[in-house]
Amino acid sequence: MNPLIRLIPAPLVRFFAKPYVAGDSLAKAMAVVDKLWRDRGLRATLDLLAEDIREPGQAQANVDTYLQMVAAVAASDLPADARPTLSLKPSSYTTSPLHEDGDGAGSFEAIERIVQAAKAKGVQVSIDMEGRHWTDFTLDALERLAAAGHDHVGAVLQTRLHRTAADLERLPAGMRVRLVIGIYQEPADIALTDKPAMKERMLEYAEKLLRAGHYVEFATHDPAYVRRFVDEVVPRADVGPDRFEVQMLYGVPRERLLRDLVDRGFRARLYVPFAVGWDMAIEYLRRRLDEYPAMVWLVTKNMFLRR
Ligand SMILES: Cc1cc2nc3c(=O)[nH]c(=O)nc-3n(C[C@H](O)[C@H](O)[C@H](O)COP(=O)(O)OP(=O)(O)OC[C@H]3O[C@@H](n4cnc5c(N)ncnc54)[C@H](O)[C@@H]3O)c2cc1C
Repeated sequence: MNPLIRLIPAPLVRFFAKPYVAGDSLAKAMAVVDKLWRDRGLRATLDLLAEDIREPGQAQANVDTYLQMVAAVAASDLPADARPTLSLKPSSYTTSPLHEDGDGAGSFEAIERIVQAAKAKGVQVSIDMEGRHWTDFTLDALERLAAAGHDHVGAVLQTRLHRTAADLERLPAGMRVRLVIGIYQEPADIALTDKPAMKERMLEYAEKLLRAGHYVEFATHDPAYVRRFVDEVVPRADVGPDRFEVQMLYGVPRERLLRDLVDRGFRARLYVPFAVGWDMAIEYLRRRLDEYPAMVWLVTKNMFLRR
């Protein structure tokens, strides 16, 4: 991460990253999800911003919020196929994170509880992929959950990592897979450092996964690659619109592209994060600003234009 982004004080990070966050309560996030579907035909995946857990109480609070999210989605009056999925991060449920040499204690059990509750209510769940210290843990968790019959749980694979070529072969049959380039900076001996090369891999892996019978969630804001996915890869793999979707982050301005996709009868889904404890949201927001520092200027400009 750019060291300058590290230096921005938390309240300012929160201010500048506002467009990426759907609000400070589950109710507000559900209202955003509802509006995305009714106004624009966009689906959503809901995410609680909850990283950097320091107290066991926070880990438990995160599980409780996810259980409330399951209940809220199940109670939503959106059509079943348009209800949001849930996205969660394994590091949200442990005070001993693997990226700080911990053992991830409590994380699998927490995920299993949420996944079981989601299954009972017919809610789909995706396990986000965090930095390289979490890859084995997360793939093992996905395998264990699939072996226990949890076919409503989806994976995320990062194409920047060289290991992903082998990891995609070991995924449980038919598993839903989100393909991303990966947001975590990884060392050059284990990962690509060139973005176009990562995106070429997205196309290559998407075709492999589609041909192998997986449901593919193609997650990028790069319009050229979205078009190549829907216009080249999908026809080559010869699959219908029920076998894939395109995903983007809430707050990234891609209105026209999203409208085109929906008009063509393709599914498009936004990743919609919300916060209940801002201290746990800051790391996610810093990564967004690091990825797109221009957001600082856009928000400042909008602030003056609104006056
Ligand atoms: C739905 C979704 C889920 C994701 N889940 C994960 C995950 O589980 N694990 C993981 O490691 N990564 C995840 N990511 C992040 C992903 O790995 C990339 O870091 C991120 O999408 C940026 O890469 P890009 O493919 O959009 O290409 P880029 O080349 O970075 O972006 C293409 C263009 O989009 C615009 N853009 C990109 N990002 C922003 C932004 N934040 N704000 C404004 N404009 C922007 C810029 O104009 C840029 O030129 C997810 C991304 C999405 C969309």
